[in-house]
Amino acid sequence: MKLEAYLTELSQEKRQTLLGRDTEDSLHQAFSHKRVVHAGLIGEAIMPARQQQVWQAAMHQPADLSNQHAVYIHIPFCQTRCLYCGFYQNASRQEVEDAYVDDLLAEIEAEADSIQLRETPIKAVFIGGGTPTSLSAENASRLLDAIQRSFSLVSDCEVTLEGRVHDLVPEKIEAWLSHGVNRISLGVQSFDTVLRQRVGRIDSREEVLKRLELLKSYDVTVIVDLIYGLPGQTMEIWMDDVKTLALADVDGMDLYQLNVFPNGPLDKAVANGSVPPCATIAEQADMYVAARDYLLDSGVERLSLCHFRRSKRERSLYNTLAKTGAVVYPFGCGAGGNFGGLTFMQLRELKAYHAAMAKGEKPLMMLARQVEPKLKQATDNIIADLEKGFVDFRRLSMLDCRLEELDLLLTLWQQRGLMTEDLGVYRLTKAGEFWYISLTQSLVEVAQVVMKDKEKPLSLPAWMPPAMREKIMAKMAES
Ligand code: SF4
Repeated sequence: MKLEAYLTELSQEKRQTLLGRDTEDSLHQAFSHKRVVHAGLIGEAIMPARQQQVWQAAMHQPADLSNQHAVYIHIPFCQTRCLYCGFYQNASRQEVEDAYVDDLLAEIEAEADSIQLRETPIKAVFIGGGTPTSLSAENASRLLDAIQRSFSLVSDCEVTLEGRVHDLVPEKIEAWLSHGVNRISLGVQSFDTVLRQRVGRIDSREEVLKRLELLKSYDVTVIVDLIYGLPGQTMEIWMDDVKTLALADVDGMDLYQLNVFPNGPLDKAVANGSVPPCATIAEQADMYVAARDYLLDSGVERLSLCHFRRSKRERSLYNTLAKTGAVVYPFGCGAGGNFGGLTFMQLRELKAYHAAMAKGEKPLMMLARQVEPKLKQATDNIIADLEKGFVDFRRLSMLDCRLEELDLLLTLWQQRGLMTEDLGVYRLTKAGEFWYISLTQSLVEVAQVVMKDKEKPLSLPAWMPPAMREKIMAKMAES
């Protein structure tokens, strides 16, 4: 289907959701809201009755060694629930945690020897949650030993543990580091004591800084996340957070936009007046730009639109791999991953997870297949490029001529001040950076639409210099 015809058939509301608004103030108004939390396409769902069989068949295939490989392990426990969180699953309790780690180890060990995983070089392991640092030192050591034993970790494998500063005590830190963790990613969210405690974080500003200092006395890469837009967080509080972080001895930092989940605890708390309102989208945009400008002016290096580093020891390997189409093997209740053209999510309910493990099954909740490999490649390219702030239209149109139709969106966004173009590369402006997730989601959805058309014979794009066209045509004639 021609893209223009497709867009004309959409209702005005759907067209606006996809393309954004026609406005002169793109920074504050390009879209009515952030379209998704993570951009991507789901693919064609595989019926539950066939999931185990499809999974087993995939695990019996050799790994695609032309790609890169990572492991994601999920720990679905937190000591307390943060008000803004959309990912909370279970409260930490020792006996529940012990039983979970038993099954998690069984899941890892059952698959480690499969044809797919055996001897596959693993470049990064990410233990996320939930709050992985909430595991007891003993359970953390059991898990980390199983990782070292079961996977072929490359010698400089990045092993990240995600968590909270409240768990930074010597007994735990020593257990993590002596069992292979070399990177710790901490959700600080804000240094402001009142704001932290308002949203369910435990420690005061002084305590957070003291514990970060303790952690940095060990040999480990330290990453800190901040959130902008929290309830009652003014621009002044936000910039104090950013400046405090820029001065703290950490290797990397993430700036995340607050997501208010409809009918979630934060939404309800604001509605009943028990916490002050959150920043509006327009205020969030100003917060993003102020922090971005401050960090770049201070000489902090930017690795992706919301991830910065102060030292070269921060590689951000797992995040880069996960956003560039690498294979991610999932383990644990609520984990997600992809390989062999399949995308999967594991069961999120602890009881269902244990029940699947008791039956000797992979605890799958959702399994989908990306039917069109070129669409998967286009999606990976779009997501990877936009994470870094640009779209390489030349590469997309070389990948598949049908993607030339994306030019319609890119030109429109250029006219609206979200992008600038130079020789086929569209770079995000500051406004485009703020809205990059919405732009990414729209582009991958439109890529899916245009790639439903029959594949066209190769036609080289008009921007291409004649010498390059001739070279490519000659290569094609040869092959
Ligand atoms: S610690 Fe993290 S996962 Fe747990 S409730 Fe807070 S934000 Fe959510």
